Amino acid sequence: SEKLTLHPKVTEFLNGPRKLFIDGGWHESVGGQTFETTNPATGEVLAHVYEARENDIDKAVEAAAKAFEEGPWSRISAADRAKLMHKLADLMERDFEVLAQLDTLDNGKPIQEMRNADLPGAIDQLRYFAGWTTKMTGQTIPVSNSFFNYTRHEPVGVVGQIIPWNFPIMMALWKIAPALATGCTIILKPAEQTPLSALYLGKLIEEAGFPDGVVNIVPGFGKSAGDALVKHPKVNKIAFTGSTPVGKSIMKTAADTMKRVTLELGGKSPNIILPDADLDKAIPGVFNGIMANQGEVCCAGSRAYIPEQMYDEVMERLADYAKNVKLGNGLAEDTQMGPLVSARQQDIVTSYIQKGIEEGAKLLAGGEKLDKGYFVQPTVFAAEDNMTIAREEIFGPVVAAMKYKTIDEVVERANNSPFGLGAGVWTENLKNAHVVASKLKAGSVWVNCYNLTNAAMPFGGYKQSGIGREMGSYALENYTEVKSVWVNL
Ligand code: NAD
Repeated sequence: SEKLTLHPKVTEFLNGPRKLFIDGGWHESVGGQTFETTNPATGEVLAHVYEARENDIDKAVEAAAKAFEEGPWSRISAADRAKLMHKLADLMERDFEVLAQLDTLDNGKPIQEMRNADLPGAIDQLRYFAGWTTKMTGQTIPVSNSFFNYTRHEPVGVVGQIIPWNFPIMMALWKIAPALATGCTIILKPAEQTPLSALYLGKLIEEAGFPDGVVNIVPGFGKSAGDALVKHPKVNKIAFTGSTPVGKSIMKTAADTMKRVTLELGGKSPNIILPDADLDKAIPGVFNGIMANQGEVCCAGSRAYIPEQMYDEVMERLADYAKNVKLGNGLAEDTQMGPLVSARQQDIVTSYIQKGIEEGAKLLAGGEKLDKGYFVQPTVFAAEDNMTIAREEIFGPVVAAMKYKTIDEVVERANNSPFGLGAGVWTENLKNAHVVASKLKAGSVWVNCYNLTNAAMPFGGYKQSGIGREMGSYALENYTEVKSVWVNL
């Protein structure tokens, strides 16, 4: 298929020096080191990017601390913070196609998904949280007539934000927007696989006129740049999105300096078709629930549960969908599924597929990788709960589909997982919808829909899928301390 012509600003950006954004300016790394970022559709190097390590993180933290303690950020009004956030949103809208193409190049995902989902979702965060800046009221509390008691919600301070590669620009804005709204200052570390859109965002932040040091953007690796942020004594809070093992290690390291920590981690989310579902909606819903974004979605519905009397029909139709997906370069307008983000991710996913076959799961569609680029075909397995592919997060386009007999049984099996991020229920029966939604141990339950998020709706995990909630009014709690003030009258 014909590929899009790159926007001139994309070409210019890819050819320019991609430096670290620290204290309002662009800097080479202290040690001069760079790293490559590749296009997963072709395996070709897209750009070299300066790599932040401990010294660079130190500079970024000092800048953020200064901006928080002394800089204009702590003195400007809440309404003016909101204006800057709207200005940044305007600039993202102006450069919409540039940002869309950068993430498609760097991550591989279809350009249509960038335009229809990731970017509108990212920009909405700024507009939604800009509205909160002037509405974060405290309380007055009637302790006794001898005292005047009230609470203040104060910004937590310097915030380190570490994000993954699956929704690069969207994850950046999920993190930055509530932190800006509450008056925090930020050091954002994008994932090493996808640093480009975050760096471009730095240019827009500069253009919008944010004071120096309010947002610093420092691409680098987890074990060096990420770890330095988590250890830094002047960082008051870490907001992390990524894998559960890394989340656990961050929580342990952060304990030494008693940082506030919020974690958005992995999942193995169940998507349940009830016997009274409308299959014409449920089957494509379950299919897209796992295959969207190449299955690289933390809340992907990677376990499908199907009533035994419908199992054969549903499996056949799921397999048909899988066989008809148009895989291709994300820059082609008609591509439905792009490559996985890296050769490493392709290896992880194909080794899970191999394991599924070895453990006796029945492969009904897909299962192969392509020779060029990091593609894996959408893959449908008839599986059992105890198989590895039904228990562990694969983070690729692989569904493990199981049959069940009763609703009580399927709820118990759906909850029998160390994870609890998302869950789906497909039913035409109102009572079943609410009863099952109430019983599922998951941070988001979607009824007759899946994978939907909105800046106004909280998102996060039960159990080992995380701690805390992003988005909605709930996200404000992540970035504020509550102060009780007693005035003796
Ligand atoms: P990862 O945990 O390896 O990396 C995520 C980020 O953490 C990257 O920026 C990485 O550089 C950094 N990092 C890695 N090791 C670190 C360390 N020791 N200290 C500090 N930072 C470190 O995850 P991944 O494999 O790149 O991403 C996929 C995972 O992210 C999946 O498990 C997925 O479920 C999860 N995820 C969760 C959500 C959510 O909202 N719950 C969203 C997207 C992805």
